[in-house]
Amino acid sequence: MSLDGTYDDGNIFAKILRGEMPSARVFEDEHVYAFMDVFPQARGHTLVIPKHSQARNLLEEDPQVLAPLILGVQRVARAVRAALKPDGLVITQFNGQPAGQTVFHLHFHIIPRWEGVALGRHAGGGMADPAELKDLAAQISAMIA
Ligand code: AMP
Repeated sequence: MSLDGTYDDGNIFAKILRGEMPSARVFEDEHVYAFMDVFPQARGHTLVIPKHSQARNLLEEDPQVLAPLILGVQRVARAVRAALKPDGLVITQFNGQPAGQTVFHLHFHIIPRWEGVALGRHAGGGMADPAELKDLAAQISAMIA
């Protein structure tokens, strides 16, 4: 899907928000939902999405939704840092299939990085163990300030 198109509420993140698909929940408030990426590029790879949005990408988002979303991203990133003590953090976001986007509900990736540990492939690695994701989600959740 290119930058042009319409929001499909059958996308996987919309299903997660409606409780139709499971997720390892890290955090939520009235604006945002954070959960573990099931094909993590690194241990602790976390996604943050707006709860009330039909934006497929950053360009489409209402500024009133974007403001609390980015604050949520910062809050969760701080918790990832506190919980997992990475050497660095990648915070990224893809717009349109040619740019690498695979799920068309706006989201931010928070990816911890450690010196000497290679980054996994985007949306192309193996599926994580659900029990491990649940444990990581609990560790990060405990550090939300
Ligand atoms: P993007 O390619 O930027 O659209 O990112 C979509 C991300 O969602 C990828 O990193 C996928 O690994 C991840 N993903 C796909 N399905 C699920 C799911 N059911 N639960 C959690 N993460 C998912």
